[in-house]
Amino acid sequence: MAQDVIVIGGGIVGVSTAIHLLRRGRSVLLVDKNTPGRETSFGNAGIIQREGVRPHAFPRDLATLMQVGLHLSTAARYDPFALPRVTPALMRYWWKSSPNHYSHVVRSYAPLIARSIDEHSDLIAASGAEDLVIKKGWYLAFRTAEKLKAEAAKAKKDHELYGINHRVVDGAEMAQIEPDFTERLAGAIHWTDPWTIRNPGALVAKYFELYKSMGGRFLGGEATGLEQDGDDWAITVADTRYTAREVVVTLGPWAPEVLEPLGYRLPLFVKRGYHMHYGTQGDAKLNNWLIDAEVGYCLAPMEQGVRLTTGAEFALRDAAPTPVQLGRAEGRARALFPLGERLDPQPWKGARPCTPDMMPIIGPAPKHRGLWVGIGHAHHGFTLGPATGHLLAQAMTGEKPAIDIAPFGMDRFAGTYPR
Ligand SMILES: Cc1cc2nc3c(=O)[nH]c(=O)nc-3n(C[C@H](O)[C@H](O)[C@H](O)COP(=O)(O)OP(=O)(O)OC[C@H]3O[C@@H](n4cnc5c(N)ncnc54)[C@H](O)[C@@H]3O)c2cc1C
Repeated sequence: MAQDVIVIGGGIVGVSTAIHLLRRGRSVLLVDKNTPGRETSFGNAGIIQREGVRPHAFPRDLATLMQVGLHLSTAARYDPFALPRVTPALMRYWWKSSPNHYSHVVRSYAPLIARSIDEHSDLIAASGAEDLVIKKGWYLAFRTAEKLKAEAAKAKKDHELYGINHRVVDGAEMAQIEPDFTERLAGAIHWTDPWTIRNPGALVAKYFELYKSMGGRFLGGEATGLEQDGDDWAITVADTRYTAREVVVTLGPWAPEVLEPLGYRLPLFVKRGYHMHYGTQGDAKLNNWLIDAEVGYCLAPMEQGVRLTTGAEFALRDAAPTPVQLGRAEGRARALFPLGERLDPQPWKGARPCTPDMMPIIGPAPKHRGLWVGIGHAHHGFTLGPATGHLLAQAMTGEKPAIDIAPFGMDRFAGTYPR
């Protein structure tokens, strides 16, 4: 069977793109080597980060750099063996995190993040996934009053500039909100706009069911050998060639494998992260999603148990797991809250697909007609998948995208691949 579009990669970005293309009358074949939504989009912290107008910048203060450099940080870690490969991209990341560049990034990024809740809301309603959603925001918690005060000042600015809502919660109120905490925190920023999802993989599965119910087709297997075939594009899956007039690459951290043979050597890198689920001791209950900001991990009351997710590990995507951060974070989390037994046999590992300017790549590939990409969503891919999918489908079908996608164009990295 022929199709108009092949979407390669069925994470949150690919599934959302496929739905929006179907809605515009395109026939779609979605390809994934796994069941859709079982990779990076499965194991994340499940926060739809409407507040996330400021993407995660490279630390520029000496104290943090020293901590990471000396392997003392829980939030960030690097694998020395990965450095020769990742240093060029990390240097660009550092450069784009300078105050001047960063303010441009935030201005471009804010309209994209602003679409996150509405776009998820649309797909949640269409897929009947309301029971997975909690609409009470999340807490960015601080151990010191000084750090809380600094973040509160930034939050006030985010409200004035971008309409992000929040409350500053003091230590006493935090203790009421989470009565089973066994340590006293200085307080938290309660971001009140975001939604949280009790099982991110299940949400992608719901979106995938929606896609299939709309007539979308799925092919399980590893896509290889993406190439132009006359006016069409062709991929091979299990020795069979599939062609379509257009193709969308939504492969998250695997995108280089398909794009590099076509000449797009982009400065992509990954920040790996881990999760583990825990029971709780006695009747202890975690009521909210919370990031322990000064230590660097997240606790999330998921369907599967309390999910602890870790910060950034700068390593090669497929290098062996080194869950050092998980071990450290678990120790600190146990002191804060009575976590029980580990519930998973092994820590889950995923890789946030990152670009140096902290923004995804959304739009056409500059050197090839009919080739589109939605990649590089870093810490916010779960948040942005439906927004990116909608924008891509609009651009592909000749509609004016809901926001200007020029800042997310691949050509901003033109210097890094042969013209
Ligand atoms: C610990 C952690 C916590 C996070 N927390 C959050 C959060 O709270 N909120 C948030 O917004 N984001 C969060 N993220 C980031 C988010 O999970 C990612 O940005 C997002 O899932 C990326 O989605 P994707 O669709 O681009 O990639 P993926 O979900 O990885 O999808 C890519 C797909 O491509 C498929 N594939 C790969 N190679 C091939 C091939 N050759 N042929 C066919 N298919 C192939 C894979 O099977 C996979 O399904 C977190 C990430 C981590 C690691």
